[in-house]
Amino acid sequence: MDQPLCLLAVHAHPDDEASKGAATVARYHREGVHTVLACCTGGEAGDILNPEMDTPEVRQSLPEVRMTELRRSAEVIGYDEVVMLGFRDSGMPGSELNDDPRCFARATLDDAVSRLVEVIRRTQPQVIITYPEDQQAYPHPDHLRVHEVTVAAFGAAGDPAAFPEAGDPWQPLKLYYTIWSRRRMLAMHEKFLELGLASPFDDRWFERPSLDHLVTTAVDVSGFGHVQLAALRAHATQIDPASSFWFGLPPEVATAAHPYDEYVLACDLCRDCRGVPPGGSEGPGAESQAEGPGAEDASTFGGSDGFSTQLESDLFDGVRGGSQQLAVSDVTGAGLRWSR
Ligand SMILES: [Zn+2]
Repeated sequence: MDQPLCLLAVHAHPDDEASKGAATVARYHREGVHTVLACCTGGEAGDILNPEMDTPEVRQSLPEVRMTELRRSAEVIGYDEVVMLGFRDSGMPGSELNDDPRCFARATLDDAVSRLVEVIRRTQPQVIITYPEDQQAYPHPDHLRVHEVTVAAFGAAGDPAAFPEAGDPWQPLKLYYTIWSRRRMLAMHEKFLELGLASPFDDRWFERPSLDHLVTTAVDVSGFGHVQLAALRAHATQIDPASSFWFGLPPEVATAAHPYDEYVLACDLCRDCRGVPPGGSEGPGAESQAEGPGAEDASTFGGSDGFSTQLESDLFDGVRGGSQQLAVSDVTGAGLRWSR
């Protein structure tokens, strides 16, 4: 296929792109995939969580500071393009931030979806990543809204009757949700204990219902773990460098303990095109799972607790034509495109 590969990640706030899926984006960027970040809000309402950055100057210019942080993070990760959708942060329910008519939570669904549809039609991603519908662990209204908006835009972008002013139709093929598996938390927790360090994962973490059975896809991000940490550090006002949650384990130890970013494949039009029913294991997708780095390890993740033993290892599985191999090219310093 001649169409260049493109991966679009839709996030709520500046810093979400660093904490969710950063290593995955870094890996695909390195493989030559065009990587686009759509960030729905400007992060105006973020707290300053790093005591060293809590100065009157920073407080006064927080919106500008957060844009600078986002730009640095996007460059570190390897995003080729950042698009700000132009909404303001909302707060938790009851917050006065939600009185601002420009806030994301108050935008009509049509307004938000049309802005994202315009991005999808222009950048033409085959694969889109966003948040799952189940966000019990962190039910921020902007994150819940990102899910609704992305699901609606995934469907509308290919429909010529929907938002005709937003460009020519383009139908993405696969929609993924980011997920933090219990398996990952356990691996980290056990590594902390093994090294005699205090684990930030207390009982509350493990009281949450496990979502591991939903995981369909494990992307091997060996060698890219440091990218996520550097991106997090770029958000100097948001991330405390003393946070043991993010920085408690030596980076190479943390990555080795669980070298996968995990996803839920929510919609797969490739598979539907191949005539394989959802959940079926036939077809080229199933075959290709046995190949490629990490596929073997990923497929041995589990099984005893209902965790799928047939995991995809590539977000573009089924999208890439037949035996076509992507050239691995170091695409660095190519310049970051910034919109709005
Ligand atoms: Zn957020």
